[in-house]
Amino acid sequence: MPPLMADPAVTKVMFSSLNLDPQILRAIEDEGYTEPTPIQAQAIPHVLAGRDLMAMAQTGTGKTAAFTLPLLQRLLPHASTSASPARHPIRALVLAPTRELAIQVEKSVETYSRHVPLRSTVVFGGVDIKTQKPELMKGVEILVATPGRLLDHVESRNLMLNQVQVLILDEADRMLDMGFMPDLKRILTLLPKQRQTLLFSATFSDDIKKLAQDFLVNPITVEAERRNTAAENVKQSVLMVDQDNKFNVLADLLRSRGLGSQALVFTRTKLTAARLARKLEREGIPADAIHGDKTQLERIKALDAFKEGKITALVATDVAARGLDIDQLPLVVNYELPTNAEDYVHRIGRTGRAGASGEAISLVDGEEERRLVDIEKLLKRSFSRERATVSPSSRASSSHRTAKPASQVYAKKSAPVDDWFLKPYEPSPSAAKIEEHPFFGTDKFDPGKPKKQIAALLCRPPAKN
Ligand code: AMP
Repeated sequence: MPPLMADPAVTKVMFSSLNLDPQILRAIEDEGYTEPTPIQAQAIPHVLAGRDLMAMAQTGTGKTAAFTLPLLQRLLPHASTSASPARHPIRALVLAPTRELAIQVEKSVETYSRHVPLRSTVVFGGVDIKTQKPELMKGVEILVATPGRLLDHVESRNLMLNQVQVLILDEADRMLDMGFMPDLKRILTLLPKQRQTLLFSATFSDDIKKLAQDFLVNPITVEAERRNTAAENVKQSVLMVDQDNKFNVLADLLRSRGLGSQALVFTRTKLTAARLARKLEREGIPADAIHGDKTQLERIKALDAFKEGKITALVATDVAARGLDIDQLPLVVNYELPTNAEDYVHRIGRTGRAGASGEAISLVDGEEERRLVDIEKLLKRSFSRERATVSPSSRASSSHRTAKPASQVYAKKSAPVDDWFLKPYEPSPSAAKIEEHPFFGTDKFDPGKPKKQIAALLCRPPAKN
């Protein structure tokens, strides 16, 4: 049977009309949300009704609350203040592709469940598995996990999944890209057949539809945005410019807007990200980079500086930028186009959030034409290819050099700081991580092994205790 489409008609829905418990509504109020986002308004009633759901929504649309709020409501009858672990079996499992996203989702679950006695925790790879055991042993109703680490815990008998009533696959497209399908299939065999499954994905590729066919039962389909399109409130443009001139064009672009106007700049590799940030700094443009070779502490610092408006340009690679929750970002620059066209959608989804208008500018070298065509195919639109004007010198004028950083131009925003970034730094197994490795940022990543880990896909390594 073809999936049912939820009625996307935008009738005004209020949280109070969604049949959520007053204690859940209280948490929403605490957060200052006045009305549900479109994906929340569409998804919540169906999740409450127990339907399987296939939702197209990317980070920034309010998707986490779209599944967490009705999830909490459905689990409320099981809420217990008892200290006994037996009273707190895992009833909901949220799977996320990266530890960053897993941590961010669990933080939201904690926020929305703060007035109800339901417990949650998060497990992800790259840290000692033993440190995660005590929390699991106490019992939690909602577990957020990356797939590989979840299986490690299953093998170590640290948890049971036989009472899971609701499974949520967050950023399912990314999980498939990262080769998690074998893990997902294995996890599915450990869950009760009778359950509710919610699938969230930024895009609906054929692979995602196949996944939905295999794992979901008669799902309702909801879309936060039109299929494979970027937010309409983001103005997108393309500037054709040779690789050698990209830096000058970027520097001019940032200066012309004033250094108080911030931008998130994407590169394809961590090396380009690091070099670009350094070069911008040398030109008097406050900048920093986040990528996999940076320690967690360095990433925290860069992100905080950006959120506080101390730097103008944050240069990031696709993987490092995933899950970042940065509000009020006016400009995304694609310094290099991504290899996967779908990453373009993710990238530009970083601006124009929560109804604000945003801009995305791509600097495209002739060699990248193929990538641009792929993006156009995905978005079903074409871009006019404007030639960039290249200034003769990249050197900043003295007025540019003394330009104020963003923090001095704008009044400091009450920037939302993700709590996990403030947690003490836990060193990862190796500083020599290769960010472009398909499993980077996941519990499958192992810098000591070659890129293609066929064996790891066929059988899981023994749990590292
Ligand atoms: P998400 O798409 O789940 O990553 O959420 C993106 C951001 O939107 C987060 O900072 C949420 O706190 C915020 N948010 C979620 N729901 C609402 C809402 N109904 N009103 C305002 N902000 C919201």
